[in-house]
Amino acid sequence: MTTVNRETSLQVENLSKSYPTVGEPLQVLSNVSLSLVGGDSLAIVGPSGCGKSTLLQILGTLDHPDQGTVRIDGQDPFALTEKELAGFRNQHVGFVFQDHHLLPQLTVLENVLVPALAQGSPAAERFTHAEHLLESVGLVERRAHLPSELSGGERERVAIARALLMRPSLVLADEPTGNLDRRTADSVTELLLDLPSSQGVILVVVTHSHSLAESLKQSRELRDGQLV
Ligand code: ADP
Ligand code: MG
Repeated sequence: MTTVNRETSLQVENLSKSYPTVGEPLQVLSNVSLSLVGGDSLAIVGPSGCGKSTLLQILGTLDHPDQGTVRIDGQDPFALTEKELAGFRNQHVGFVFQDHHLLPQLTVLENVLVPALAQGSPAAERFTHAEHLLESVGLVERRAHLPSELSGGERERVAIARALLMRPSLVLADEPTGNLDRRTADSVTELLLDLPSSQGVILVVVTHSHSLAESLKQSRELRDGQLV
C-alpha cells in the first residue's frame, strides 16, 4: 500500500558551498536546486570528490550552505538554534552511511533505538516499532546480537532500521552499497527502494552503482558543482 504524506517535502534553492584552501576557495556546490515530495526518490551520481557527500550533509542539516535555502517539510532548519536543529534533525532526517556507525557495545535492538534515546528513555511504542523495523529488514531474530556478530550487509540493514525509527520524512544514504558484495548490495538496494512507497519518505541516495541509480525515480549527476 502506498502512503504519501503530503506534508513531506524537500525544497532546495540555489545552494552554494565552498571550502577555504590556501589559494582560491574550492567551490564545491554552485546554485544547486531541487524539489521533492514524499514518495520521491533521487540518485546523485558523479566522480569522487565532486561534492556528493557535501550536498547530502547540507540536505541532512549537518552542514550549513554558504548561500541558498533548504526547506524540509516546509521549515527552514538553518533558522533554528543549534539545540532546536538537533531535535529537528532527529525527527525529520534518517541517515544511512556507508560505514554504518553502529555502536559496538550495544545490541542490534539497542542500536536501532539509539535515535530515541535523545528524548530520554524510549517509550514502549518505540520498542515495538524497532522490532517491526528489524522484522522488515529480516533481522528480528538477531536483535540480541552485537554488531561484531553480523555480516557487513546485515549491519547495513540494521543502519536502515535505525534510520527509520523516528519516522523521518527524509532518508539520506551515502554510498550505502559501496562496501558490499553484489548479492548483499542487491538486498540492501531492495530495502531502500521500497521506502518511498511503503513509508512515504523522500529518499536521496549518493551512489556509484548504476543499477541502484537507475532503480530510483530520478537520477542526477553532480558536475562542476551543479546537478545536471
Ligand atoms: P564526494 O562525496 O563527491 O566524493 P565530497 O563532498 O566529500 O565529495 O568533497 C568535495 C570536495 O570538497 C573534495 O575536493 C573534498 O576534498 C573537499 N572537501 C570536503 N570536505 C572538506 C572540508 N571540510 N574542508 C575542505 N575541503 C573539503
Ligand atoms: Mg562522498
